[in-house]
Amino acid sequence: MNTNSVHDQKKDVMVGIVKSASLHVVFHSTYLLDGQPYEGDHIFSPSSQERLFVPQDGQASFTLKKVKIGIGFHWEREEEQTFCGALLLTNEEGMVRAINVVPVETYLTSVISSEMSANASLELLKAHAVISRSWLLVMMNHRQQMSARREAFHEQLGESSVIRWYDSEAHTRFDVCADDHCQRYQGITRQSNPQVVKAIEATWGQVLTYDGRLCDARFSKCCGGMTEVFESCWEKVSHPYLVAKPDPYCHTSDSRILSQVLNNYDQETVDFYHWTVHYTSDELAELIHRKSGIDFGRIINLIPVERGLSDRIIMLKIVGEKSTITVGKELEIRKWLSESHLYSSAFTVEKTADGFTLHGKGWGHGVGLCQIGAAVMGDQGIPYRDILSFYYPNSHLMTIEELINEK
Ligand SMILES: [Zn+2]
Ligand SMILES: [Zn+2]
Repeated sequence: MNTNSVHDQKKDVMVGIVKSASLHVVFHSTYLLDGQPYEGDHIFSPSSQERLFVPQDGQASFTLKKVKIGIGFHWEREEEQTFCGALLLTNEEGMVRAINVVPVETYLTSVISSEMSANASLELLKAHAVISRSWLLVMMNHRQQMSARREAFHEQLGESSVIRWYDSEAHTRFDVCADDHCQRYQGITRQSNPQVVKAIEATWGQVLTYDGRLCDARFSKCCGGMTEVFESCWEKVSHPYLVAKPDPYCHTSDSRILSQVLNNYDQETVDFYHWTVHYTSDELAELIHRKSGIDFGRIINLIPVERGLSDRIIMLKIVGEKSTITVGKELEIRKWLSESHLYSSAFTVEKTADGFTLHGKGWGHGVGLCQIGAAVMGDQGIPYRDILSFYYPNSHLMTIEELINEK
């Protein structure tokens, strides 16, 4: 990371909102495009010229009509959304792309408000604010340093093995998108949570760093009692702040605490700390065939070949009548063994009379902060600094300003 790119990040984040053949915008006060004032309703068609509409006062906002949200999910729908900050229109594959150019802290207030429940503790929200800010700045870096851009999808196919892992794909013309691919962002459409505003203010500009660089601050729902190392789930790079360690906090089924971190939480609690899934032999054979595209025939055995330090299976040997394949890493295993995603790959296999029972623990990859554990810590009044240093040992909390001055 060079000093300039960190400096740029003190400015604004560019959020890709919507792309369509024509765009209906309502400016609620005066915006300027090349000295030309715009107000009220406007319909824009694609143009080869980039157009930047700059608000003339700090309270200005604009509304985009018909924004598609939840693209590809069962709850996909169109909404009207309102944003503050500037509007940039670019041409993307012959369509108009709306990009919201907005201060980093304003963006964070919006995304954390929609992600976290209103009853989350202030310390949990502060910890999340620091992680989200660190994540955002890493994303902004990726776009600015295209050479360092990560590949989105990694695959190693052998004669009898399939190893895949996934990283988030970097965008090119903007830093992050507004859909679930990055983090859902709805501008100021909904009121922000006053506790989140407090958490953002209390942690203003703070990020997690290691050795003078921003941390890749991963997090998941529930580690299941032990956090996992980065290289068990992604590429073979070790980050000294993403280590495996016992987590005494996340063993809870307290619905008051779970509701702080689970979106659309319903009272029929699933125990994420310990869970069980059962498949008959026929169900499992059909499922794995459909999800992997490989016909194993009848499944004879599932053999964990390699486990990470949290017991998450990294490599699983699937022994079938027609073929035997070893699959990895954890996310690919979870995809093959469930209609959606198995909660985690930290499971043991029990052969039963009619099939297989998987006894598992945790939800997600388990790397970095454990959201349920962090919610318990926050509920116990443990300060966010301690929550962060517990889940990201060896990391340092500093402001972007301090990070720049250290260079
Ligand atoms: Zn995205
Ligand atoms: Zn945990």
